[in-house]
Amino acid sequence: MQTTQLYIDGAFVAPHAGGSFEAINPATETAFARIAAGTAEDVDRAVRSARRAFDQGPWPQMPAADRAAALRRIARGITERLTEIAAVETRDNGKPIPEAEWDVGDAAVVFNYYADLAESHEADGAQSVDLGDDAFTGTVVTEPLGVVGAITPWNFPLLMAVWKVAPALAAGCTIVLKPSEFCSVSCAILAEIINAAGLPAGVFNLVTGTGPEAGAPLADHPLVDKLAFTGSVPTGRKVMTAAAAGIRTVSLELGGKSPFIIFEDCDIEKAVEWILFGIFWNKGEVCSATSRVLVQRGLYPRLMERLVEATEAISIGPGGAEGVKLGPVVSKQQYDKVLAAIEAGKSTTARLVTGGGRPAGMNTGYYIAPTIFADVPTDAAIWREEIFGPVVCVNPFDTEDEALALANDSAYGLAGAVMSDDLERCERVASKLRAGVIWINCSQPTFTQLPWGGYKSSGIGRELGKAGFMGFREIKQITRYDHTRSWGWYLKP
Ligand code: NAD
Repeated sequence: MQTTQLYIDGAFVAPHAGGSFEAINPATETAFARIAAGTAEDVDRAVRSARRAFDQGPWPQMPAADRAAALRRIARGITERLTEIAAVETRDNGKPIPEAEWDVGDAAVVFNYYADLAESHEADGAQSVDLGDDAFTGTVVTEPLGVVGAITPWNFPLLMAVWKVAPALAAGCTIVLKPSEFCSVSCAILAEIINAAGLPAGVFNLVTGTGPEAGAPLADHPLVDKLAFTGSVPTGRKVMTAAAAGIRTVSLELGGKSPFIIFEDCDIEKAVEWILFGIFWNKGEVCSATSRVLVQRGLYPRLMERLVEATEAISIGPGGAEGVKLGPVVSKQQYDKVLAAIEAGKSTTARLVTGGGRPAGMNTGYYIAPTIFADVPTDAAIWREEIFGPVVCVNPFDTEDEALALANDSAYGLAGAVMSDDLERCERVASKLRAGVIWINCSQPTFTQLPWGGYKSSGIGRELGKAGFMGFREIKQITRYDHTRSWGWYLKP
């Protein structure tokens, strides 16, 4: 069985302590690879290497065109190995192959996008600012931020890492990546691709390992300038605490409980299609999943009927099998967590209208039937807390104001969606939803060009788009005084 390696200072190495752990295929519950278990010593070596590469290396000073060329080589490397990486992603995470192929294709798009952005940002040059005083001129420039510690989750194992690695490298930063211990194999392949692309040693480093043994030492490391984290709220809080101790920049992409408001003028087939995509795509293991659906009362009974029928027709099975639309959840831990949330839901007055446990006859693999609760009390945990699995709550509403109040009544603010044939109403609702990502007449399609991130407990900062690049740049002002003049404050001219 293959054992992955760490990638530190331009070389593939075994972890200092020599440990490894299993990568489990959630469709078979069996191990298919072993993952190098990095610890604090490995993190320290990786961070010191990234520090040297930043402070002494050519990478931050390189013309953007040279960095962009390297990023485009990485994009090509991903594209060339797309089928292989997608198969790994499916084996590790459980998602159906077409979804994995989509993710991996997107990862290449992200590298190409940030290659272009690095060049156009440099071409824009310094920004001159009128200071209203002809003795002074002012300019604003941006510079690479420094050494980045990136900690990522398992739901889009490669793509969530690439959302950080690509803009950080494009911006001239150096980076240490710590992917999730539940899905690390595709990031080990990314290290091979980056190695083949010929980046200077130390610019990109990979330390796989568990959260406490590898993630925490990275978050605590004093030589890291920025922590870029995607994961759960409790871990995000720990990472932010570590960043506070060192006064380091931090970006947090956290959880969500996103609403989807459906007005009664909608076409039922379109509404059902987007509800399904909004919650069952990627098994509901999506931070922006629209897991709270609000349906206007006039449409509610008919929509529920069609929604249940379509949900029960979803093909469940191993991600590698033809036609499968819902794979197993990622791990035994996640399986237990989602089932516990469903059981808690059953003990409320909510109606379980379909699903609610393991699909009949599927005895191996972490499978959970797509589950719908209706008429859910709004103080119930299933309505308020992120489940991160194929579970959706649906409630009726009467007026637009009521829908908005219910939608915004959440600790989270990552995403929200609205559906209506009245486009003015859609725009009005979009402007009143308190979330960083809004979909009109759809749910979930995500574009590299648009900024991604949450309000409230869903996080701090933005990834993707230009904002995602600027998150890895420092801003510097330069104030120049006319050297032919005397200042004349203490000394007479
Ligand atoms: P998690 O918080 O359990 O783990 C995330 C990462 O943090 C992993 O790499 C883990 O090893 C590491 N980690 C764990 N303990 C740590 C510690 N003490 N110090 C430093 N690092 C530590 O999250 P998860 O279960 O992997 O991912 C699911 C969560 O991610 C969900 O809440 C989901 O909403 C969120 N998510 C958010 C976005 C977004 O863009 N907002 C995207 C994807 C996932």
